[in-house]
Amino acid sequence: MSEADKPWDAVVIGAGFAGLYALHALRARGKRVLVLEAAAGVGGVWYWNRYPGARCDVESLQYSYSFDAELEQQWQWSERYASQAEILRYIEHVADRFDLRRHIRLNTRLVCATFNESQDGWDLLTDDGLRLRAQHCIMATGALSVPRLPAIEAIESFEGPIHHTGAWPHEGVDFSNLRVGVIGTGSSGIQVIPQIARQARQLTVFQRTANFSVPAWNRPLQDQEQQAFKAAYREHRARAREVGTLYEFTDKGAFEVSEHEREQEYERRWNKGGVNFVHAFKDLSTNLAANDTIADFVRARIRAVVKDEQVAQSLCPNDHPLGTKRICVDTGYYETYNRPNVRLVDLKKTPIERFGPQGVRVAGEDIALDALVCATGYDALSGAVLAIDIRGRGGVGLREKWAQGPRTLLGLMCAGFPNLFMITGPGSPSVLVNMIVGIEHHVQWISDCIDHLQQQGHRTIEATVAAQDRWVEHVNAAAHRTLLPMANSWFLGANIPGKPRVFMPYAAKIGVYRRECQEVADQGYAGFILSGA
Ligand code: FAD
Ligand code: NAP
Repeated sequence: MSEADKPWDAVVIGAGFAGLYALHALRARGKRVLVLEAAAGVGGVWYWNRYPGARCDVESLQYSYSFDAELEQQWQWSERYASQAEILRYIEHVADRFDLRRHIRLNTRLVCATFNESQDGWDLLTDDGLRLRAQHCIMATGALSVPRLPAIEAIESFEGPIHHTGAWPHEGVDFSNLRVGVIGTGSSGIQVIPQIARQARQLTVFQRTANFSVPAWNRPLQDQEQQAFKAAYREHRARAREVGTLYEFTDKGAFEVSEHEREQEYERRWNKGGVNFVHAFKDLSTNLAANDTIADFVRARIRAVVKDEQVAQSLCPNDHPLGTKRICVDTGYYETYNRPNVRLVDLKKTPIERFGPQGVRVAGEDIALDALVCATGYDALSGAVLAIDIRGRGGVGLREKWAQGPRTLLGLMCAGFPNLFMITGPGSPSVLVNMIVGIEHHVQWISDCIDHLQQQGHRTIEATVAAQDRWVEHVNAAAHRTLLPMANSWFLGANIPGKPRVFMPYAAKIGVYRRECQEVADQGYAGFILSGA
Protein backbone atom coordinates (compact mmCIF):
# COMPACT_ATOMS: atom_id res chain seq x y z
CA MET A 1 0.00 0.00 0.00
CA SER A 2 1.44 3.37 -0.98
CA GLU A 3 1.57 6.21 1.53
CA ALA A 4 -1.22 7.93 -0.43
CA ASP A 5 -3.55 4.92 -0.03
CA LYS A 6 -2.82 4.48 3.65
CA PRO A 7 -5.89 5.06 5.83
CA TRP A 8 -5.84 8.33 7.76
CA ASP A 9 -5.58 8.03 11.52
CA ALA A 10 -8.36 10.60 11.66
CA VAL A 11 -10.45 12.56 9.20
CA VAL A 12 -12.01 15.64 10.76
CA ILE A 13 -15.13 17.15 9.19
CA GLY A 14 -15.31 20.95 9.46
CA ALA A 15 -12.70 23.69 9.74
CA GLY A 16 -14.25 25.99 12.33
CA PHE A 17 -12.87 26.48 15.84
CA ALA A 18 -13.41 22.76 16.55
CA GLY A 19 -11.94 21.25 13.40
CA LEU A 20 -8.85 23.44 13.44
CA TYR A 21 -8.01 22.65 17.02
CA ALA A 22 -8.69 18.92 16.47
CA LEU A 23 -6.24 18.98 13.57
CA HIS A 24 -3.61 20.83 15.59
CA ALA A 25 -3.96 18.61 18.67
CA LEU A 26 -3.94 15.27 16.84
CA ARG A 27 -1.10 16.25 14.56
CA ALA A 28 0.92 17.28 17.62
CA ARG A 29 0.47 13.70 18.86
CA GLY A 30 1.88 12.31 15.63
CA LYS A 31 -1.38 11.37 13.94
CA ARG A 32 -2.01 11.54 10.19
CA VAL A 33 -4.98 13.88 9.96
CA LEU A 34 -7.01 15.37 7.13
CA VAL A 35 -9.74 17.98 7.46
CA LEU A 36 -12.63 18.21 5.00
CA GLU A 37 -14.46 21.53 4.83
CA ALA A 38 -17.49 22.33 2.68
CA ALA A 39 -16.71 26.06 2.58
CA ALA A 40 -14.08 27.77 0.46
CA GLY A 41 -12.27 28.96 3.60
CA VAL A 42 -11.67 28.18 7.26
CA GLY A 43 -13.65 29.75 10.10
CA GLY A 44 -16.97 27.88 10.25
CA VAL A 45 -19.67 30.13 11.71
CA TRP A 46 -17.38 33.13 11.28
CA TYR A 47 -16.80 32.32 7.62
CA TRP A 48 -20.52 32.02 6.88
CA ASN A 49 -22.12 34.69 9.10
CA ARG A 50 -20.95 37.93 7.43
CA TYR A 51 -24.17 39.82 8.06
CA PRO A 52 -23.80 43.41 9.28
CA GLY A 53 -23.65 43.51 13.08
CA ALA A 54 -22.41 39.92 13.52
CA ARG A 55 -20.18 39.64 16.59
CA CYS A 56 -19.65 37.34 19.55
CA ASP A 57 -21.72 37.66 22.70
CA VAL A 58 -19.08 36.13 24.95
CA GLU A 59 -16.37 38.71 25.52
CA SER A 60 -13.51 38.49 23.01
CA LEU A 61 -10.85 37.84 25.62
CA GLN A 62 -12.80 34.73 26.63
CA TYR A 63 -14.13 33.78 23.21
CA SER A 64 -10.74 32.57 22.01
CA TYR A 65 -8.50 29.53 22.22
CA SER A 66 -6.66 28.87 25.47
CA PHE A 67 -4.36 26.08 24.26
CA ASP A 68 -1.39 28.28 23.40
CA ALA A 69 -0.15 30.87 25.89
CA GLU A 70 1.82 32.84 23.29
CA LEU A 71 -1.14 33.12 20.96
CA GLU A 72 -3.27 34.20 23.89
CA GLN A 73 -0.79 36.92 24.88
CA GLN A 74 0.10 38.14 21.42
CA TRP A 75 -3.32 38.44 19.80
CA GLN A 76 -4.80 41.88 20.46
CA TRP A 77 -8.58 42.15 20.55
CA SER A 78 -9.84 45.55 19.55
CA GLU A 79 -13.32 45.46 21.07
CA ARG A 80 -15.10 44.04 24.09
CA TYR A 81 -17.15 41.89 21.68
CA ALA A 82 -15.21 41.21 18.49
CA SER A 83 -16.87 41.60 15.11
CA GLN A 84 -17.22 38.70 12.69
CA ALA A 85 -14.40 40.13 10.56
CA GLU A 86 -12.02 40.26 13.52
CA ILE A 87 -12.88 36.74 14.70
CA LEU A 88 -12.36 35.43 11.18
CA ARG A 89 -8.97 37.20 11.03
CA TYR A 90 -8.07 35.52 14.31
CA ILE A 91 -9.06 32.05 13.04
CA GLU A 92 -7.11 32.59 9.82
CA HIS A 93 -4.14 33.71 11.87
CA VAL A 94 -4.37 30.47 13.88
CA ALA A 95 -4.54 28.42 10.66
CA ASP A 96 -1.36 30.14 9.39
CA ARG A 97 0.50 30.34 12.69
CA PHE A 98 0.16 26.60 13.31
CA ASP A 99 0.60 25.69 9.64
CA LEU A 100 -2.77 23.97 9.44
CA ARG A 101 -3.88 24.80 5.91
CA ARG A 102 -1.88 22.11 4.14
CA HIS A 103 -3.95 19.43 5.92
CA ILE A 104 -7.31 20.96 4.97
CA ARG A 105 -9.25 20.15 1.83
CA LEU A 106 -11.67 23.04 1.19
CA ASN A 107 -14.81 23.02 -1.00
CA THR A 108 -15.31 19.39 0.03
CA ARG A 109 -18.48 18.17 1.68
CA LEU A 110 -18.64 14.77 3.33
CA VAL A 111 -21.85 13.13 2.14
CA CYS A 112 -21.48 9.54 3.28
CA ALA A 113 -19.60 7.72 6.05
CA THR A 114 -19.82 3.94 6.39
CA PHE A 115 -18.20 1.87 9.11
CA ASN A 116 -16.16 -0.88 7.54
CA GLU A 117 -16.34 -3.79 9.99
CA SER A 118 -13.53 -5.80 8.41
CA GLN A 119 -11.16 -2.82 8.56
CA ASP A 120 -12.34 -1.30 11.87
CA GLY A 121 -12.48 2.11 10.24
CA TRP A 122 -14.62 4.52 8.25
CA ASP A 123 -15.09 4.64 4.49
CA LEU A 124 -15.84 8.21 3.52
CA LEU A 125 -17.31 9.68 0.37
CA THR A 126 -17.34 13.37 -0.52
CA ASP A 127 -19.60 15.39 -2.82
CA ASP A 128 -16.87 15.48 -5.48
CA GLY A 129 -16.46 11.70 -5.49
CA LEU A 130 -13.34 11.47 -3.33
CA ARG A 131 -13.14 8.21 -1.36
CA LEU A 132 -11.09 8.06 1.83
CA ARG A 133 -10.54 5.63 4.66
CA ALA A 134 -9.97 6.72 8.24
CA GLN A 135 -9.59 4.84 11.46
CA HIS A 136 -11.39 7.63 13.30
CA CYS A 137 -13.91 10.10 12.00
CA ILE A 138 -14.41 13.31 13.97
CA MET A 139 -17.50 15.41 13.39
CA ALA A 140 -16.53 19.05 13.91
CA THR A 141 -19.53 19.98 11.80
CA GLY A 142 -20.91 22.65 14.13
CA ALA A 143 -23.99 22.99 16.32
CA LEU A 144 -25.31 25.96 14.33
CA SER A 145 -24.18 25.36 10.78
CA VAL A 146 -27.28 24.26 8.87
CA PRO A 147 -29.29 27.43 8.09
CA ARG A 148 -33.06 27.10 7.83
CA LEU A 149 -35.30 29.11 5.55
CA PRO A 150 -38.86 29.56 6.83
CA ALA A 151 -41.62 27.42 5.36
CA ILE A 152 -43.98 30.26 4.44
CA GLU A 153 -46.61 29.94 1.74
CA ALA A 154 -45.21 30.84 -1.71
CA ILE A 155 -41.94 32.29 -0.38
CA GLU A 156 -40.21 30.90 -3.48
CA SER A 157 -42.37 33.19 -5.65
CA PHE A 158 -40.73 36.31 -4.18
CA GLU A 159 -38.67 37.89 -6.94
CA GLY A 160 -36.28 39.93 -4.81
CA PRO A 161 -33.10 38.51 -3.25
CA ILE A 162 -33.46 36.36 -0.11
CA HIS A 163 -30.45 36.31 2.22
CA HIS A 164 -30.06 34.02 5.22
CA THR A 165 -27.84 35.53 7.92
CA GLY A 166 -25.94 32.22 8.13
CA ALA A 167 -24.99 32.22 4.44
CA TRP A 168 -24.35 35.90 3.84
CA PRO A 169 -22.83 37.06 0.51
CA HIS A 170 -19.11 37.74 0.83
CA GLU A 171 -19.32 40.94 -1.17
CA GLY A 172 -21.87 42.35 1.29
CA VAL A 173 -25.35 43.63 0.50
CA ASP A 174 -26.24 47.25 -0.18
CA PHE A 175 -29.70 47.96 1.21
CA SER A 176 -29.62 51.72 0.44
CA ASN A 177 -32.95 52.93 -0.82
CA LEU A 178 -34.55 49.50 -0.55
CA ARG A 179 -37.65 48.28 1.23
CA VAL A 180 -36.32 45.39 3.27
CA GLY A 181 -38.11 42.71 5.27
CA VAL A 182 -36.42 40.79 8.10
CA ILE A 183 -37.99 37.58 9.40
CA GLY A 184 -36.69 36.44 12.77
CA THR A 185 -35.83 38.14 16.05
CA GLY A 186 -33.36 35.73 17.66
CA SER A 187 -29.70 36.66 18.29
CA SER A 188 -28.97 37.08 14.55
CA GLY A 189 -32.07 39.16 13.85
CA ILE A 190 -31.44 41.35 16.86
CA GLN A 191 -27.89 42.06 15.63
CA VAL A 192 -28.75 42.68 11.98
CA ILE A 193 -31.95 44.73 12.38
CA PRO A 194 -30.37 47.95 13.76
CA GLN A 195 -27.74 47.82 11.00
CA ILE A 196 -30.19 47.39 8.15
CA ALA A 197 -32.47 50.05 9.63
CA ARG A 198 -29.68 52.61 9.21
CA GLN A 199 -29.33 51.85 5.52
CA ALA A 200 -32.69 50.81 4.16
CA ARG A 201 -35.42 53.18 3.00
CA GLN A 202 -37.98 51.12 4.87
CA LEU A 203 -37.45 48.14 7.16
CA THR A 204 -40.28 45.81 8.15
CA VAL A 205 -39.50 43.32 10.90
CA PHE A 206 -41.67 40.20 11.04
CA GLN A 207 -41.60 38.93 14.61
CA ARG A 208 -43.08 35.59 15.62
CA THR A 209 -41.70 35.43 19.16
CA ALA A 210 -40.40 38.40 21.10
CA ASN A 211 -37.03 37.69 22.71
CA PHE A 212 -35.25 39.03 25.76
CA SER A 213 -32.22 41.11 24.88
CA VAL A 214 -29.58 42.72 27.07
CA PRO A 215 -27.43 45.65 25.92
CA ALA A 216 -23.86 44.71 24.96
CA TRP A 217 -22.40 48.15 25.67
CA ASN A 218 -19.73 47.15 23.22
CA ARG A 219 -16.68 49.43 23.21
CA PRO A 220 -13.02 49.49 22.22
CA LEU A 221 -10.82 47.52 24.62
CA GLN A 222 -8.29 49.68 26.40
CA ASP A 223 -4.68 48.43 26.35
CA GLN A 224 -4.43 48.55 30.10
CA GLU A 225 -7.61 46.57 30.60
CA GLN A 226 -6.47 43.97 28.07
CA GLN A 227 -3.06 43.64 29.70
CA ALA A 228 -4.57 43.23 33.14
CA PHE A 229 -6.86 40.48 31.90
CA LYS A 230 -4.00 38.75 30.11
CA ALA A 231 -1.83 38.88 33.20
CA ALA A 232 -4.44 36.72 34.91
CA TYR A 233 -5.33 34.60 31.88
CA ARG A 234 -4.56 31.28 33.57
CA GLU A 235 -6.97 32.02 36.42
CA HIS A 236 -9.66 33.25 34.01
CA ARG A 237 -9.34 30.15 31.87
CA ALA A 238 -9.36 27.82 34.87
CA ARG A 239 -12.52 29.47 36.12
CA ALA A 240 -14.10 29.27 32.68
CA ARG A 241 -13.45 25.52 32.64
CA GLU A 242 -15.14 25.17 36.00
CA VAL A 243 -18.15 27.47 35.93
CA GLY A 244 -18.16 28.93 32.41
CA THR A 245 -17.16 32.35 31.20
CA LEU A 246 -20.29 34.13 32.34
CA TYR A 247 -19.21 33.89 35.85
CA GLU A 248 -20.37 36.81 37.83
CA PHE A 249 -22.42 34.52 40.09
CA THR A 250 -24.05 35.12 43.43
CA ASP A 251 -25.13 32.56 46.01
CA LYS A 252 -28.31 34.48 46.87
CA GLY A 253 -31.81 33.67 45.72
CA ALA A 254 -33.94 36.44 44.20
CA PHE A 255 -36.26 36.57 47.23
CA GLU A 256 -33.47 36.56 49.81
CA VAL A 257 -33.00 40.27 49.19
CA SER A 258 -35.47 43.15 49.32
CA GLU A 259 -37.28 44.26 46.19
CA HIS A 260 -35.15 47.39 46.17
CA GLU A 261 -31.88 45.42 46.33
CA ARG A 262 -33.11 43.10 43.61
CA GLU A 263 -33.89 45.97 41.27
CA GLN A 264 -30.53 47.56 42.05
CA GLU A 265 -28.76 44.33 41.15
CA TYR A 266 -30.62 44.05 37.84
CA GLU A 267 -29.89 47.71 37.16
CA ARG A 268 -26.17 47.25 37.91
CA ARG A 269 -25.87 44.26 35.62
CA TRP A 270 -27.93 45.90 32.88
CA ASN A 271 -25.59 48.87 32.96
CA LYS A 272 -22.56 46.57 32.71
CA GLY A 273 -24.12 44.77 29.73
CA GLY A 274 -23.82 41.25 28.40
CA VAL A 275 -25.08 37.85 29.42
CA ASN A 276 -23.86 37.98 33.02
CA PHE A 277 -27.19 39.72 33.52
CA VAL A 278 -28.89 36.32 33.76
CA HIS A 279 -26.79 35.27 36.76
CA ALA A 280 -28.03 38.03 39.04
CA PHE A 281 -29.54 35.44 41.43
CA LYS A 282 -28.86 31.75 41.78
CA ASP A 283 -32.49 30.63 41.31
CA LEU A 284 -33.40 32.58 38.17
CA SER A 285 -33.05 29.48 36.00
CA THR A 286 -34.96 27.17 38.33
CA ASN A 287 -37.71 29.19 40.04
CA LEU A 288 -40.42 30.72 37.88
CA ALA A 289 -41.43 33.38 40.40
CA ALA A 290 -37.79 34.49 40.68
CA ASN A 291 -37.51 34.50 36.91
CA ASP A 292 -40.61 36.70 36.65
CA THR A 293 -38.79 39.43 38.59
CA ILE A 294 -35.94 39.68 36.08
CA ALA A 295 -38.31 39.27 33.12
CA ASP A 296 -40.44 42.14 34.49
CA PHE A 297 -37.32 44.28 34.77
CA VAL A 298 -36.52 43.75 31.08
CA ARG A 299 -40.11 44.35 30.01
CA ALA A 300 -40.08 47.65 31.92
CA ARG A 301 -36.85 48.57 30.11
CA ILE A 302 -38.41 47.83 26.75
CA ARG A 303 -41.42 50.00 27.56
CA ALA A 304 -39.13 52.80 28.71
CA VAL A 305 -37.19 52.79 25.45
CA VAL A 306 -39.83 52.11 22.79
CA LYS A 307 -42.07 55.13 22.34
CA ASP A 308 -45.04 53.51 20.62
CA GLU A 309 -46.94 51.65 23.33
CA GLN A 310 -48.34 48.97 21.06
CA VAL A 311 -44.96 48.26 19.51
CA ALA A 312 -43.41 48.10 22.98
CA GLN A 313 -46.11 45.67 24.05
CA SER A 314 -45.41 43.42 21.07
CA LEU A 315 -41.67 43.51 21.80
CA CYS A 316 -42.19 42.36 25.40
CA PRO A 317 -41.60 38.60 25.61
CA ASN A 318 -44.39 36.90 27.50
CA ASP A 319 -44.42 33.26 26.48
CA HIS A 320 -41.20 31.92 27.97
CA PRO A 321 -39.08 32.57 31.07
CA LEU A 322 -35.98 34.71 30.57
CA GLY A 323 -32.95 32.60 29.64
CA THR A 324 -34.95 29.59 28.42
CA LYS A 325 -34.32 30.75 24.87
CA ARG A 326 -30.76 31.88 24.39
CA ILE A 327 -30.63 35.45 25.72
CA CYS A 328 -29.71 38.00 23.06
CA VAL A 329 -27.11 40.73 23.38
CA ASP A 330 -27.74 43.83 21.32
CA THR A 331 -26.55 47.24 20.30
CA GLY A 332 -29.46 49.65 19.97
CA TYR A 333 -32.05 46.98 19.18
CA TYR A 334 -35.09 48.35 20.99
CA GLU A 335 -34.17 51.96 20.06
CA THR A 336 -34.40 50.92 16.39
CA TYR A 337 -38.18 50.74 16.69
CA ASN A 338 -38.32 54.51 17.35
CA ARG A 339 -37.04 55.19 13.84
CA PRO A 340 -39.60 56.45 11.34
CA ASN A 341 -38.44 53.96 8.69
CA VAL A 342 -38.94 50.86 10.87
CA ARG A 343 -42.15 48.93 11.30
CA LEU A 344 -42.82 45.89 13.45
CA VAL A 345 -45.31 43.28 12.27
CA ASP A 346 -46.36 41.08 15.17
CA LEU A 347 -47.02 37.73 13.54
CA LYS A 348 -48.81 36.46 16.65
CA LYS A 349 -51.52 39.07 15.95
CA THR A 350 -51.27 39.22 12.16
CA PRO A 351 -49.65 36.16 10.62
CA ILE A 352 -48.14 36.19 7.14
CA GLU A 353 -50.73 34.92 4.67
CA ARG A 354 -48.42 34.34 1.74
CA PHE A 355 -45.56 35.71 -0.28
CA GLY A 356 -45.93 37.03 -3.81
CA PRO A 357 -43.41 38.26 -6.41
CA GLN A 358 -43.37 41.81 -4.99
CA GLY A 359 -43.63 41.19 -1.26
CA VAL A 360 -45.80 39.71 1.40
CA ARG A 361 -49.49 39.74 2.34
CA VAL A 362 -50.26 40.18 6.04
CA ALA A 363 -53.83 40.42 7.37
CA GLY A 364 -55.12 41.51 3.99
CA GLU A 365 -52.40 44.15 3.50
CA ASP A 366 -49.73 43.84 0.80
CA ILE A 367 -46.32 44.93 2.06
CA ALA A 368 -43.98 45.64 -0.84
CA LEU A 369 -40.40 44.43 -0.38
CA ASP A 370 -37.27 44.74 -2.52
CA ALA A 371 -35.21 42.31 -0.43
CA LEU A 372 -35.80 39.75 2.28
CA VAL A 373 -33.46 38.77 5.11
CA CYS A 374 -34.13 35.51 6.93
CA ALA A 375 -32.64 35.44 10.40
CA THR A 376 -34.59 32.26 10.91
CA GLY A 377 -31.99 30.09 12.61
CA TYR A 378 -30.62 26.61 12.21
CA ASP A 379 -31.33 22.91 12.32
CA ALA A 380 -29.32 23.03 15.51
CA LEU A 381 -27.09 20.47 17.21
CA SER A 382 -28.07 17.37 15.24
CA GLY A 383 -28.70 18.91 11.79
CA ALA A 384 -25.17 18.87 10.35
CA VAL A 385 -24.41 15.33 11.48
CA LEU A 386 -27.73 13.99 10.19
CA ALA A 387 -27.19 15.72 6.84
CA ILE A 388 -24.45 13.11 6.25
CA ASP A 389 -25.54 9.54 5.48
CA ILE A 390 -23.76 7.84 8.38
CA ARG A 391 -23.93 4.04 8.60
CA GLY A 392 -22.55 2.20 11.60
CA ARG A 393 -22.35 -1.49 12.47
CA GLY A 394 -24.61 -3.67 10.34
CA GLY A 395 -25.16 -0.76 7.93
CA VAL A 396 -27.64 0.84 10.35
CA GLY A 397 -28.10 4.57 9.71
CA LEU A 398 -27.66 7.27 12.33
CA ARG A 399 -30.87 8.83 11.00
CA GLU A 400 -32.75 5.67 12.05
CA LYS A 401 -31.02 5.54 15.43
CA TRP A 402 -31.88 9.16 16.11
CA ALA A 403 -35.42 9.06 14.69
CA GLN A 404 -36.80 9.87 18.17
CA GLY A 405 -34.04 12.41 18.94
CA PRO A 406 -30.26 12.23 19.34
CA ARG A 407 -28.87 9.57 21.70
CA THR A 408 -25.23 9.80 22.73
CA LEU A 409 -22.86 8.93 25.54
CA LEU A 410 -21.36 12.16 26.95
CA GLY A 411 -22.36 13.93 23.72
CA LEU A 412 -19.20 12.43 22.27
CA MET A 413 -20.10 9.03 20.78
CA CYS A 414 -23.10 6.98 19.80
CA ALA A 415 -23.69 3.22 20.33
CA GLY A 416 -23.29 1.25 17.11
CA PHE A 417 -20.91 3.83 15.59
CA PRO A 418 -17.38 2.89 16.67
CA ASN A 419 -14.57 5.45 16.31
CA LEU A 420 -17.04 8.20 15.37
CA PHE A 421 -16.62 11.22 17.62
CA MET A 422 -18.66 14.41 17.82
CA ILE A 423 -17.37 17.74 19.08
CA THR A 424 -19.96 19.63 21.16
CA GLY A 425 -22.56 17.07 20.14
CA PRO A 426 -26.07 16.72 21.61
CA GLY A 427 -25.82 15.46 25.18
CA SER A 428 -22.87 17.73 26.03
CA PRO A 429 -23.10 21.30 27.43
CA SER A 430 -22.30 22.58 23.94
CA VAL A 431 -24.39 25.67 23.12
CA LEU A 432 -25.19 26.39 26.79
CA VAL A 433 -21.60 27.45 27.51
CA ASN A 434 -18.81 29.42 25.87
CA MET A 435 -18.43 27.01 22.99
CA ILE A 436 -14.68 27.34 22.70
CA VAL A 437 -14.30 26.01 26.24
CA GLY A 438 -16.48 23.03 25.27
CA ILE A 439 -14.59 22.53 22.01
CA GLU A 440 -11.14 22.51 23.62
CA HIS A 441 -12.31 20.05 26.25
CA HIS A 442 -13.78 17.65 23.69
CA VAL A 443 -10.72 17.80 21.46
CA GLN A 444 -8.47 16.98 24.41
CA TRP A 445 -10.71 14.10 25.55
CA ILE A 446 -10.87 12.65 22.03
CA SER A 447 -7.08 13.01 21.52
CA ASP A 448 -6.40 11.28 24.85
CA CYS A 449 -8.84 8.54 23.93
CA ILE A 450 -7.22 7.89 20.54
CA ASP A 451 -3.78 7.79 22.19
CA HIS A 452 -5.09 5.37 24.80
CA LEU A 453 -6.47 3.03 22.14
CA GLN A 454 -3.15 3.03 20.35
CA GLN A 455 -1.12 2.49 23.52
CA GLN A 456 -3.35 -0.38 24.65
CA GLY A 457 -3.43 -1.99 21.23
CA HIS A 458 -7.15 -1.44 20.64
CA ARG A 459 -8.60 -0.64 17.23
CA THR A 460 -12.08 0.52 18.19
CA ILE A 461 -14.03 2.27 20.90
CA GLU A 462 -17.78 2.34 21.02
CA ALA A 463 -20.45 3.37 23.51
CA THR A 464 -22.54 0.62 25.10
CA VAL A 465 -26.31 0.95 24.74
CA ALA A 466 -26.78 0.68 28.51
CA ALA A 467 -24.35 3.51 29.30
CA GLN A 468 -25.83 5.63 26.55
CA ASP A 469 -29.37 5.08 27.86
CA ARG A 470 -28.25 6.14 31.32
CA TRP A 471 -26.59 9.25 29.93
CA VAL A 472 -29.67 10.25 27.91
CA GLU A 473 -31.77 9.95 31.09
CA HIS A 474 -29.20 11.97 33.02
CA VAL A 475 -29.23 14.78 30.41
CA ASN A 476 -33.00 14.80 30.38
CA ALA A 477 -33.18 14.98 34.18
CA ALA A 478 -30.67 17.86 34.25
CA ALA A 479 -32.81 19.88 31.86
CA HIS A 480 -35.95 19.22 33.87
CA ARG A 481 -34.37 20.55 37.03
CA THR A 482 -34.40 23.95 35.26
CA LEU A 483 -36.97 26.10 33.49
CA LEU A 484 -35.23 25.45 30.15
CA PRO A 485 -37.80 22.99 28.73
CA MET A 486 -40.54 25.64 29.15
CA ALA A 487 -39.63 27.47 25.94
CA ASN A 488 -40.25 26.37 22.37
CA SER A 489 -36.56 26.74 21.65
CA TRP A 490 -34.11 25.29 19.19
CA PHE A 491 -32.44 23.66 22.23
CA LEU A 492 -35.22 21.07 21.97
CA GLY A 493 -35.76 21.21 18.23
CA ALA A 494 -39.00 23.19 18.47
CA ASN A 495 -38.00 25.48 15.60
CA ILE A 496 -38.17 22.66 13.06
CA PRO A 497 -41.63 21.26 12.27
CA GLY A 498 -41.56 17.50 12.85
CA LYS A 499 -38.19 17.43 14.65
CA PRO A 500 -38.43 15.22 17.77
CA ARG A 501 -38.69 17.34 20.91
CA VAL A 502 -35.77 16.33 23.06
CA PHE A 503 -33.78 18.80 25.13
CA MET A 504 -30.40 18.30 23.43
CA PRO A 505 -27.69 20.15 25.41
CA TYR A 506 -26.60 18.99 28.87
CA ALA A 507 -27.63 21.64 31.38
CA ALA A 508 -24.92 21.04 33.98
CA LYS A 509 -22.02 23.32 34.82
CA ILE A 510 -19.12 22.69 32.49
CA GLY A 511 -16.90 21.73 35.47
CA VAL A 512 -19.34 19.00 36.53
CA TYR A 513 -19.45 17.66 32.98
CA ARG A 514 -15.67 17.75 32.61
CA ARG A 515 -15.30 15.67 35.78
CA GLU A 516 -17.86 13.16 34.52
CA CYS A 517 -15.87 12.78 31.29
CA GLN A 518 -12.61 12.47 33.20
CA GLU A 519 -14.02 9.77 35.49
CA VAL A 520 -15.07 7.74 32.47
CA ALA A 521 -11.54 7.97 31.03
CA ASP A 522 -9.90 7.25 34.40
CA GLN A 523 -11.96 4.08 34.73
CA GLY A 524 -10.57 2.80 31.42
CA TYR A 525 -13.40 4.33 29.40
CA ALA A 526 -16.25 2.95 31.49
CA GLY A 527 -19.43 2.62 29.45
CA PHE A 528 -17.44 2.04 26.27
CA ILE A 529 -16.29 -1.20 24.64
CA LEU A 530 -12.65 -1.15 23.54
CA SER A 531 -11.74 -3.94 21.19
CA GLY A 532 -9.66 -5.36 18.35
CA ALA A 533 -5.96 -5.95 18.63
P1 FAD B 1 -18.71 25.75 13.04
O1 FAD B 1 -18.04 27.02 13.25
O2 FAD B 1 -20.17 25.75 12.73
O3 FAD B 1 -17.92 24.97 11.89
C1 FAD B 1 -18.42 23.78 11.32
C2 FAD B 1 -17.88 23.67 9.92
O4 FAD B 1 -18.20 22.39 9.41
C3 FAD B 1 -18.50 24.66 8.95
O5 FAD B 1 -17.50 25.43 8.34
C4 FAD B 1 -19.23 23.81 7.93
O6 FAD B 1 -19.14 24.34 6.63
C5 FAD B 1 -18.49 22.50 8.04
N1 FAD B 1 -19.31 21.35 7.68
C6 FAD B 1 -20.52 20.99 8.17
N2 FAD B 1 -20.93 19.85 7.59
C7 FAD B 1 -19.95 19.47 6.74
C8 FAD B 1 -19.78 18.36 5.86
N3 FAD B 1 -20.71 17.42 5.75
N4 FAD B 1 -18.66 18.27 5.13
C9 FAD B 1 -17.70 19.23 5.22
N5 FAD B 1 -17.80 20.31 6.03
C10 FAD B 1 -18.92 20.42 6.79
N6 FAD B 1 -20.78 30.68 20.64
C11 FAD B 1 -20.26 31.24 21.74
O7 FAD B 1 -19.83 30.52 22.64
N7 FAD B 1 -20.15 32.59 21.84
C12 FAD B 1 -20.57 33.42 20.87
O8 FAD B 1 -20.46 34.63 21.01
C13 FAD B 1 -21.15 32.86 19.70
N8 FAD B 1 -21.59 33.63 18.70
C14 FAD B 1 -22.18 33.05 17.61
C15 FAD B 1 -22.64 33.86 16.58
C16 FAD B 1 -23.27 33.31 15.49
C17 FAD B 1 -23.74 34.21 14.38
C18 FAD B 1 -23.49 31.92 15.42
C19 FAD B 1 -24.24 31.30 14.26
C20 FAD B 1 -23.01 31.09 16.42
C21 FAD B 1 -22.33 31.65 17.51
N9 FAD B 1 -21.81 30.86 18.53
C22 FAD B 1 -21.25 31.44 19.63
C23 FAD B 1 -21.84 29.39 18.42
C24 FAD B 1 -20.75 28.85 17.45
O9 FAD B 1 -21.41 27.81 16.80
C25 FAD B 1 -19.49 28.39 18.19
O10 FAD B 1 -19.00 29.38 19.04
C26 FAD B 1 -18.31 27.97 17.30
O11 FAD B 1 -17.99 28.92 16.34
C27 FAD B 1 -18.56 26.63 16.69
O12 FAD B 1 -17.39 26.17 16.07
P2 FAD B 1 -17.39 24.73 15.39
O13 FAD B 1 -16.07 24.58 14.75
O14 FAD B 1 -17.84 23.72 16.34
O15 FAD B 1 -18.55 24.79 14.30
P1 NAP C 1 -32.86 31.59 16.31
O1 NAP C 1 -32.48 31.93 17.67
O2 NAP C 1 -33.37 30.21 16.05
O3 NAP C 1 -33.92 32.66 15.84
C1 NAP C 1 -34.68 32.46 14.67
C2 NAP C 1 -35.77 33.49 14.61
O4 NAP C 1 -36.52 33.28 13.41
C3 NAP C 1 -36.77 33.37 15.76
O5 NAP C 1 -37.21 34.65 16.10
C4 NAP C 1 -37.89 32.54 15.14
O6 NAP C 1 -39.12 32.69 15.77
C5 NAP C 1 -37.90 33.13 13.75
N1 NAP C 1 -38.54 32.24 12.79
C6 NAP C 1 -38.12 31.02 12.39
N2 NAP C 1 -38.96 30.51 11.49
C7 NAP C 1 -39.94 31.42 11.31
C8 NAP C 1 -41.12 31.48 10.52
N3 NAP C 1 -41.46 30.47 9.72
N4 NAP C 1 -41.87 32.59 10.58
C9 NAP C 1 -41.52 33.60 11.38
N5 NAP C 1 -40.45 33.61 12.18
C10 NAP C 1 -39.66 32.54 12.14
O7 NAP C 1 -31.64 31.79 15.27
P2 NAP C 1 -30.45 32.86 15.33
O8 NAP C 1 -30.98 34.18 15.67
O9 NAP C 1 -29.68 32.69 14.08
O10 NAP C 1 -29.57 32.37 16.56
C11 NAP C 1 -29.21 31.00 16.71
C12 NAP C 1 -28.13 30.91 17.77
O11 NAP C 1 -26.87 31.27 17.22
C13 NAP C 1 -28.29 31.85 18.95
O12 NAP C 1 -29.24 31.43 19.87
C14 NAP C 1 -26.88 31.91 19.48
O13 NAP C 1 -26.57 30.75 20.19
C15 NAP C 1 -26.09 31.94 18.19
N6 NAP C 1 -25.89 33.34 17.77
C16 NAP C 1 -25.17 34.16 18.59
C17 NAP C 1 -24.99 35.48 18.24
C18 NAP C 1 -24.22 36.40 19.12
O14 NAP C 1 -24.77 37.34 19.62
N7 NAP C 1 -22.98 36.16 19.28
C19 NAP C 1 -25.53 35.98 17.06
C20 NAP C 1 -26.26 35.12 16.25
C21 NAP C 1 -26.43 33.79 16.62
P3 NAP C 1 -39.55 31.70 16.96
O15 NAP C 1 -38.74 32.12 18.14
O16 NAP C 1 -40.99 31.91 17.11
O17 NAP C 1 -39.19 30.31 16.50
